Amino acid sequence: MNKKTFILIIVLMSIALAGTVSVQILWMRNAVKIQEKQFEQNVFASLKTIVAKLGIQSTIVKLSAEFLDLDDRTEKIYNDSIKTQSKITIFALDTEKNDSVVEINDLEKFFKKLKIEIKETKDPLQKLNLNLLDTIIKNELKERGINSRCEFAAVHKTEKGEEIKYKSKNFKTSYLKSKFKTNIFITDADYFLVLYFPDKSKYIYKSVVPLLLLSVFFTLIILATFIITVNVILKQKKLSEIKTDFINNITHELKTPVATLKVAISTLKQDKTISENKTVMLLERQGNRLQKITERVIDSSFNNKPNINAKKINVHKYFEYLITDFKHSINDKNITVSFKSKVPENLFAKIDETYLTPAIINILDNAVKYNDKEHKEVSVTVFSKDNFLFAEIKDNGTGIAEKDKKMIFEKFYRGMKGNIHKVKGLGIGLFFTKQITEIHGGTVYFESKKGEGTKFTVKLPAETL
Ligand code: ADP
Repeated sequence: MNKKTFILIIVLMSIALAGTVSVQILWMRNAVKIQEKQFEQNVFASLKTIVAKLGIQSTIVKLSAEFLDLDDRTEKIYNDSIKTQSKITIFALDTEKNDSVVEINDLEKFFKKLKIEIKETKDPLQKLNLNLLDTIIKNELKERGINSRCEFAAVHKTEKGEEIKYKSKNFKTSYLKSKFKTNIFITDADYFLVLYFPDKSKYIYKSVVPLLLLSVFFTLIILATFIITVNVILKQKKLSEIKTDFINNITHELKTPVATLKVAISTLKQDKTISENKTVMLLERQGNRLQKITERVIDSSFNNKPNINAKKINVHKYFEYLITDFKHSINDKNITVSFKSKVPENLFAKIDETYLTPAIINILDNAVKYNDKEHKEVSVTVFSKDNFLFAEIKDNGTGIAEKDKKMIFEKFYRGMKGNIHKVKGLGIGLFFTKQITEIHGGTVYFESKKGEGTKFTVKLPAETL
């Protein structure tokens, strides 16, 4: 994984994590708001019922208000009459005698009685059974499912300010600012009931706590997974860097002995008596091959795609040389390598031998390597069709397991996990073969049956000249 991909993953994961957390916070805030709204609705509904239960009739209130109005005027009339000694006649409706009009003779007694009555009704709250208020409020709130502690007060609003007429034990003046207020009397806004819930926030948050805990728990799991993933990626990155360094070092270390070998071969060739010797020629070709492998093949497998320098090469000759070299290189009686060329003599293909040869040799090597038969058979057939050459390499080896089939062209992939360590390899052979074939404009594919053998086909563009 390169640095850009790694940074992209970190950024995407961070965005996803931040997004999830933000959505959860928003969602929690919404849940709290809904709870709060529901709480308020329940309290207001309770307030209505509480007032109704107190059983105050609007008429009583109205009457009281009228009496209060009368109070000042009657007092004045009474005082004036005493001062002026003038005769005042007052008529009133006698409700006990069919509302007949009667004259009030004893004014002093009348005013005194009226005054007392007015005084009595001056404070309509006195008509309420305030001792009951506490029980009514508690019961009503309980019925609505509100279990939060409630403080309340019955308040009279005058010009001087708000006067608490009756209150619960712990009601504080600051609670008067509470939004839960209602008129005690329908027609009189001066008397109101205030409810205050000191633990309201606690009560509301308590109801969303289980959800909050769950979402914190899941967020923590996501966070932990995120941290673990980043750690694993970092470790893998480090491992892959170590691997690359190691292979680069090996490649570098191989270069020196191979270069020495090549110098030795060319010194040998200077001796005319042996320069045409088949073994020396084989040595030279193999030395060249080894050099290319170390300098370019491994190098290119780990770094960039190689730049090939293709030349038109006679297909028949090319494969003949290649197979001969291969046969020489194995030198084992239990291995039979057969070669059949069905291509026309004038078939040419654009090939960079230095790359394509090791690519095809990989397949041939594998045909022998992954073969546990006593007598190993490798047959190579080359033929052409529709401007393409086909090189088929068939073996009677172990075959490729179904689960490995999709993977064998992957870099570093080695199949047959069970007995893989019996056969040496780096898992880059077929990756390289595929890369090189494709750079030549061709393809490589295979058919295989476990236990019976495998047939690899290299298909390359070719033309008859
Ligand atoms: P290596 O040979 O170093 O493991 P390769 O890339 O050449 O790497 O091959 C990848 C895997 O494909 C091998 O490990 C092996 O399991 C499987 N394989 C390749 N060729 C053959 C074959 N002819 N028969 C059976 N298995 C094969």
